Order: sequence, then C-alpha cells, then structure tokens
Amino acid sequence: MKWRVLGSFGGSSPTCRMTSFLINDELALDAGSITQALTIEEQRTIRRVVLTHSHLDHTASIPFLIENTFGEPQQTMEILATPQVMHTLKNHLFNNDTWPDFTRIPNDMLPALRITEVTPRQPFEINGLRLTAIPVRHTVPTHGYLVEDAGGTVLFTSDTGPTREVWEVANRTANLVAVIVELSFPNRMQRVAELSLHLTPAMLAEELAKLQRDVPVYLYHLKPPYIDELRAELAATSFPHAVEELRQDDTYDF
Ligand SMILES: [Zn+2]
Ligand SMILES: [Zn+2]
Repeated sequence: MKWRVLGSFGGSSPTCRMTSFLINDELALDAGSITQALTIEEQRTIRRVVLTHSHLDHTASIPFLIENTFGEPQQTMEILATPQVMHTLKNHLFNNDTWPDFTRIPNDMLPALRITEVTPRQPFEINGLRLTAIPVRHTVPTHGYLVEDAGGTVLFTSDTGPTREVWEVANRTANLVAVIVELSFPNRMQRVAELSLHLTPAMLAEELAKLQRDVPVYLYHLKPPYIDELRAELAATSFPHAVEELRQDDTYDF
C-alpha cells in the first residue's frame, strides 16, 4: 500500500502543509493541503476523500479541490465521513455562504460533490482497500482509520488525546504493519494538550505503552511553532516502539 504524505503537520507555514495523505495515487485520507501538494492533473485522479474529522487542518483544501476538478465529465467527487462530519460540511462549509453548495451544482442529478455517510466500526471497501473508522478522543467527533489491503493494515489514529479503543483494535489486528499517530505540543504545554485533546511526547509514550504490537510508529501533526522543541523532546524520550517523524512529500510503501 502506497502512502504519499501530502501534508504531515497540524498547522500551516511555508514549509509545513496540513494533514493529508494520498493512498495508492487515488484515495485521499484527510484534506488539509491536497491542492497545495498536488498538480491539477494529479488532483483530477482523486475521486474520493475520506475525512477523519471536521477541523480545518484536515479539511481546508476540499473547496479548492472541488473547484479545480469541477466540470470534468463523470467527475463527481465523493467525500466519505461520519454523520457529525457530514453535518458540519453541509451546514458550515457547503452552505452557499462559506462556499457554494456543490452537492447541487451543476444540478441535483449529477452534482460535483457527493457526501457519503460512514458508519463507525463497520468496515467498507473502496478503491480496492478495506477501511474501518474507529472512534478516538478529540474535541469534535473524530475517527481514526484502519486501512487494509492484501499486504497488511495501517492504522492512522487521526487527532486524539489519551484514548483506548483504537489501541485495543490495533492489538487484535493480525496483519498490522504500521501505526501513524499524532504528536502536537511540547511537554511544557501539557495543559493545552489535555484541553485540546492532543498529545505531548510524554503523553505519547503513555499511549504507545497501550500498543502491544511490534510495529513501526510514525508521527504526524507537529504544530509548526514548536517543531524544534518537539524534535529535541522526541530525541530525549524513550518509547516502547521505534518512533519516527513522518516525512512530508515522501511516499511510504507499507
Ligand atoms: Zn489536526
Ligand atoms: Zn483536530
């Protein structure tokens, strides 16, 4: 399974793009920076976007992705999301106020955008992959994803504070090959991390103690203002797994 890291950060700066992955060249997982990372031609190969939650650092490029690909024949873009995320997209983004309602443009029969509901914990198949949404603990309803093909399963936790179910699921997933987990704030900002339901390096070490599998762990979502501090703390923290920062623009073959 090919994961291209379009954006690996939890914020935006000239060198840090917001969270997005492109899986096997055609399925996007989160959409913080698709249009900043891909050419228009590459954007046209994406027909589906799976969203983990409604926060802007995971959704910001959707309006421009649809604008860039709109008008191509047979090119309805499908967004897959859990009910609360669907509600936010319809009421706060594609509401003809923040952005046009592309679920009715050019017409109801053949819209530029279709939003499909995902049921948590219920596996579904798309683009030759099997996906399962697993609830995690964040300030808005958020789901991590198990993404599986014949070669193995990757777990993307999405944004989360201390949580439980996603680790239990990981521990009983037979063919788990990699885990991608968030890290947002340095240790001195533990209170902020607790309130915003994110992780510091110390909190991450506690979370990874719940993962009883010998798999590589990759980190995403470092907040741009604290990157140097976070990297120094990572180097000084001992983790129960091999942990490394996900490299933006690299493609991983899991
Ligand atoms: Zn985020
Ligand atoms: Zn978030």
